[in-house]
Amino acid sequence: MSDLKGRTAVVTGGGTGIGLACARRLAEMGVETILMGRQLDRLEDAAKTIAGARAIRCDVTDEDSVAEAFAAAGAIDILVNNAGIAAAAAFHKTPMADWQKIQAVNVDGLVRCSQAVIGPMLTADYARIINIASIAGLRGGAYVAPYTASKHAVVGLTKSLSLEYARTRLTVNAVCPGYVETQIVENAIANIMAKTGRSRDEAIAELAKTNPQGKLIQAEEVAEAVAWLCSPLSGSVSGQAITISGGAI
Ligand code: NAD
Repeated sequence: MSDLKGRTAVVTGGGTGIGLACARRLAEMGVETILMGRQLDRLEDAAKTIAGARAIRCDVTDEDSVAEAFAAAGAIDILVNNAGIAAAAAFHKTPMADWQKIQAVNVDGLVRCSQAVIGPMLTADYARIINIASIAGLRGGAYVAPYTASKHAVVGLTKSLSLEYARTRLTVNAVCPGYVETQIVENAIANIMAKTGRSRDEAIAELAKTNPQGKLIQAEEVAEAVAWLCSPLSGSVSGQAITISGGAI
C-alpha cells in the first residue's frame, strides 16, 4: 500500500477498538497519528504503543473541547471519524434523552470534527475523511433505531460531502462494518445475556449469524479498508459506503 510518510491523521475514539486498529495501521504506513478521545490516560497508554503517535483529549459532543483539540493538533491530512456509541432498546420505550445522546456522538460529533478540518483541507494537496458508519447505516434493524438512524445520517453526510468537495483534493468515504469484536459488541453480548438468559456463546452466535460468513469481524479488517481509503491510489474513490460484513448488506 502506498506510503503516507509525513502525513498527519486524527482518529477520534482512537484509544480502543476499531479506532486504535486504524491508528496502528496508519502508523505502519508512516502517518503521524493523533488519538483523540475523552480519557487522556487511556489514550496516552495507547499512543505509547504506536510509533509517532500523540494523544489529545477531546469529547466530540463538546464544542469547546473539539475546538481546543483541533487547535492543538495543527494541520491535519486525514480525519477518521470513529467515535461512536450504541444502545439497544424498544423504540417506543426509548427516552428522548437516550435518542439525543446517540445522535450527539455519532452525528453531531462527526459534523463538529469534520467542520474543524475541512476549511484548510479544501486548499491542501492531500485530504481524506473516513467515517466509520455501520451496516446499520444501510439497512434497518429492530431495537437499534437511534443507532441505525445515526449511521444512516453518517452515510448521507458522506455522500453529500463527497459531491460538495469533489473539485478539491478531499475525498469523503464511509466504511460499514458488521459486528466487530470490540467493546461495543461486548456490551451487546452482555445485553443479550441479561435480557434473554442466553449463554455468552449463544449471544455471540446470535450476533455472528447476521454475517453470512458466520463470524464476528476483526478491527484490523476494518482498519485495512480505512488505510486503503487514506492512500494516494484511492484518490478517485469518494462518496462510497464500503461494507465489511462478510457479504451482509
Ligand atoms: P469502542 O467502544 O471500542 O469505540 C468507540 C470509541 O469512541 C471509544 O474509544 C469511546 O471512548 C469513543 N467515544 C465515545 N463517545 C465519545 C465522545 N463523546 N468523544 C470522544 N470519543 C468518544 O467500539 P468500536 O466498535 O471500536 O466503535 C468504533 C466505531 O465503529 C463506532 O462509531 C461504532 O459505531 C462503529 N461500529 C462498530 C461496530 C462493532 O460491531 N463493534 C460495527 C459497526 C460500526
